[in-house]
Parts: sequence; structure tokens; C-alpha cells
Amino acid sequence: MSKKQLFDNIDQKEKDLKEMASKIWKYAEGPFKEVKSSKLQKDYLKSKGFTIKGVPNVEAAFIAEFGECKPILGILGEYDALPGMSQKISERKEAVNGAEFGHGCGHNLLGTGGVGAVEALKEIMINENLQGTIRYYGCPGEETLSGKVLMAREDIFNDLDACVTWHPASMNVVWGCSFLALNSMKFRFKGIPAHAAAAPQAGRSALDAVELMNVGANYLREHIIQEARVHYVITNGGLAPNIVPDNAEV
Ligand SMILES: [Zn+2]
Repeated sequence: MSKKQLFDNIDQKEKDLKEMASKIWKYAEGPFKEVKSSKLQKDYLKSKGFTIKGVPNVEAAFIAEFGECKPILGILGEYDALPGMSQKISERKEAVNGAEFGHGCGHNLLGTGGVGAVEALKEIMINENLQGTIRYYGCPGEETLSGKVLMAREDIFNDLDACVTWHPASMNVVWGCSFLALNSMKFRFKGIPAHAAAAPQAGRSALDAVELMNVGANYLREHIIQEARVHYVITNGGLAPNIVPDNAEV
């Protein structure tokens, strides 16, 4: 098989793949809510002869497989959107009325490119009678960086011989690098509400607890390994400065 044959094969699917990318752009589903986007890809790959399996405990994740034996090649795909990035299909910045999520870095293309790749490889495996298994992993929640962590916990990557992925960018280059694994979690604190002007002494601020925790996490950075990273955002810091927050989250 030449590279040209593979590219020609993918070019023949251009219409279907562009349609898929446009639909996923419009669905603009946030992390772990990619029900329509994953279904679109599942249905498509099923119609192309792939066996579809779900992933336990990870909604909107799936595996599409063709072939039976080794080697097993995996291709990862994603389809989640980002909050605050709602955008029409337009060259100008223009949010969709009432929509919050949008595809900021092209995950509508990311999964779709993987789908096109496995479909093309499957056809070439059949035409050239090649042995092996090709597997597409539909991965939710990349923007929260935790989807594949949950999938790995279900042991679904263990038997792979190789796995590749890609990400849309402004140029075509090979990234021969590794990325950090990630855990994402929320810490919630409870306090006692009070009027901050009239009776602050009666309150216990849950936001203070969040701030103290963040200060502690910053000191912790001094003593962790070079490769590790710790980042946070405050997802609930109270409602108004004149109310001592009784709930806070980081
Ligand atoms: Zn991205």
C-alpha cells in the first residue's frame, strides 16, 4: 500500500467526513455530555462494518473495532466542546443564541479524522488481505483532560500494540512527545452564612477555606516532582461580597 493510495481513499470520503464534522460543530456538546456526537460516529462506523462496544462507567465513550488478531492498532478520537466558545459556522466571532459551548480547538475535526482513518485502513486491510485489528476509541471529556483516565481505569487500552492520535493545528507536524496523565477533582467546603456588614462575627466563610487550601497547594508545588503540575479554578466563590459564603468549591 502506498501513502498515495491511502490518501486517495480518504479523499473519497470527504463529503461524509465534512458532514460529520459540521454536525459535531453544531451539536457542541460539553465534556461527558457528547451523546449525539458519539452516536453519530458509532452509527457511521457500524454502517461501515465495525463492531461497536461501550466502555463501562464512561458514558459517551465507545470502541469501534475491525479485525481479529494481532497487531492491534488504536486510533483515538474526541468530540467535546468548550464552555464560553459558542460559535456559528462563520469567519467572524459570532455566538449561537443561547448556547454556551463551542468547538474552540477543533474537536469536531479530531474525532472525525480518526473515523476517516480507521475506515480507510479497514478497506486497505481487506483489499490487501492484511492481518490485524484496527480500533477507534471514541473518547469523551478531553477538555477536562479526564476522559481517557477513566477509560484506562477500565483496562481497555492494555492489549494495544500501538496507538496514535492527532490534534488540529495550524501546521502539519509529527508530535513525538508524551503528555501528562491527569486527575481532576472538586473540593467543597461548607461554612455558616451571615450578613457580612451587619454580623460578620456570626459567619464562617467557606471561601476562606478555599483560599487557604489554594495557598497550601501553592506551597505544595515546592515539594513535588518536576514533571507534575497542579492547577485550580474556583468554581464557586460565593454569591455577593456582603454575604459570608456558606458554600464554596475549588
Ligand atoms: Zn483540543
